[in-house]
Amino acid sequence: MCGIDGCEHKNGDTTKIKVHKASKHRINMVWFSCSEDNCDYKAKHKYTSKRHKLNFHDIGVVWHHCDSCEYKAKEACTLKKHKKHKTRIK
Ligand SMILES: [Zn+2]
Ligand SMILES: [Zn+2]
Ligand SMILES: [Zn+2]
Repeated sequence: MCGIDGCEHKNGDTTKIKVHKASKHRINMVWFSCSEDNCDYKAKHKYTSKRHKLNFHDIGVVWHHCDSCEYKAKEACTLKKHKKHKTRIK
């Protein structure tokens, strides 16, 4: 039994109940919180928190530099867009 009021979930397996509680009722969820000072960001998934750090704190960023100007991008696809944009202007 799930044990939460109003929940019809009935599954004898304890591990399955745990997963059910975490996903349905947000109980004992494992949050990936940001380790930076003054940041209370929390993510449900590890990759989301990684992305947050990358975008907001520039942690673990591999810069992609443009070969024709000073521009640099955090993601290869952004640089690609930048290059496309530039050639179109010319
Ligand atoms: Zn439940
Ligand atoms: Zn943060
Ligand atoms: Zn450029």
